[in-house]
Amino acid sequence: MKIELTTMTIQSAHEALVRGDFTSRALTEAVLEVIAAKNPEINAFAEVFDDALAQADAADARLARGERAPLLGIPLAIKDNMLFIGHKASSGSKILEGYVSPYTSTAVERLLKAGAIIVGRTNMDEFAMGSSSETCAYGVVKNPLDVSRVPGGSSGGSAAAVAMDSVLGSLGSDTGGSIRQPAALCGIVGLKPTYGAVSRYGLMAMGSSLDQIGPFARTVDDVEALFSVIAGKDPLDGTSIEDEDKPYVLPKHSYRIGVPESFVNMEGVDDDVRERFSSMIEMLKNAGHTIVPIEMPTLPLALAIYYILMPAEVSSNLARFDGVRFGLRKEGAKLLDTYMQTRGEGFGAEVRRRILLGTYVLSAGYYDAYYNKAVLVRRKLTDEFKAILKDVDLIATPTSPSPAFKIGEKTADPLKMYLEDIFTVSANITGVPGISVPNGTVVRDGKDLPVGIQFMADHFHEPYLFGIGKDVERLSK
Ligand code: GLN
Repeated sequence: MKIELTTMTIQSAHEALVRGDFTSRALTEAVLEVIAAKNPEINAFAEVFDDALAQADAADARLARGERAPLLGIPLAIKDNMLFIGHKASSGSKILEGYVSPYTSTAVERLLKAGAIIVGRTNMDEFAMGSSSETCAYGVVKNPLDVSRVPGGSSGGSAAAVAMDSVLGSLGSDTGGSIRQPAALCGIVGLKPTYGAVSRYGLMAMGSSLDQIGPFARTVDDVEALFSVIAGKDPLDGTSIEDEDKPYVLPKHSYRIGVPESFVNMEGVDDDVRERFSSMIEMLKNAGHTIVPIEMPTLPLALAIYYILMPAEVSSNLARFDGVRFGLRKEGAKLLDTYMQTRGEGFGAEVRRRILLGTYVLSAGYYDAYYNKAVLVRRKLTDEFKAILKDVDLIATPTSPSPAFKIGEKTADPLKMYLEDIFTVSANITGVPGISVPNGTVVRDGKDLPVGIQFMADHFHEPYLFGIGKDVERLSK
């Protein structure tokens, strides 16, 4: 049977593997061929692992023994900031060039146990800082739908890998939108799980109180399948939540959907992106959901809070890259010179900018003015979410204010780049889950470019996100 990767989903591949239409080896070979053909231009992959086919053979042996699991034999990719023992991981940074993982992250371990094939690692903004995959030390990632444009970021490689019809799914990490925004810009589905739902063990930290690993795939069903494999309590991550402490949540038939209207209507959101959003909300209403206009006065502050808390955590997390413990070392006359030369040469401009910002907001003279205030407003925003989510099941917004932008368009102006995260950061600040689902296209330079719709729900209410996501898929057909 011919392997048609342009339309294949994890679900359909699983059924075909079980029927014996093709083997995991044949499927993986087909994926590797696509990567060989397209990656030189797209640059989604930093590396294709040389044991991919050996993994596929092991999966075929498990299939032949009658083992059945949704991911058994399915080729996937992981972001370059996740450890996989014996394989390189560089977080898109020169400072970790050649670094080899000494152990495997829990999320990747769970994929492997489930029988997935980890084909390779994907390019990303350096240490996950960016919205365009342009700060990657190993070259810019291009959007497979229009190679003059960015795929979004920071998990742009993981999104592009799926969108270029190679792997059937991938993992990204999301600290302020890095799964949902690239999913939107590449026309696929991306989930940022509830904080504590997926173990961060073996994920290189950016902002530890914000980071979550989550899946990308073509369909909501596939994202759900990936999430159910990687989620769960992990004793190796103290912030992962015990399964018995999570609410038992089932999807509903119809939802109360809150729309923060003044926020969605603010300046800076492209008119046609807003129109796509409104027309989907209208369709959801006609399909039987209840639309509730909501006011969330603290929501516009989310971006400001994020750009104080995140750099503060970044400055602390990245202190470990000192030329002594990991990766690059630029020997100086004194130890301090070694630190300064290693970090000066190893880190790119965006990473250095954030370390500087972070140390500034944490410094004795400014701690109360910035960091402490941001912590207080974070609490206020979380309370606001909690209160609203007692009344509505879901909060809906566009995923990002514009479709994929041109490579280079926003690099000169970091503030413009930071605005990309306006709709996504609040889920990380409050810890709630968020999903981006494709919601049609808008035209730029005569090309159809995808946009996403985002839904957020209360902590551990991912089933609601999958439920509404499938409705959006049905209505978009
Ligand atoms: N684009 C955001 C930033 O630059 C989010 C990054 C992320 O989620 N890793 O910080």
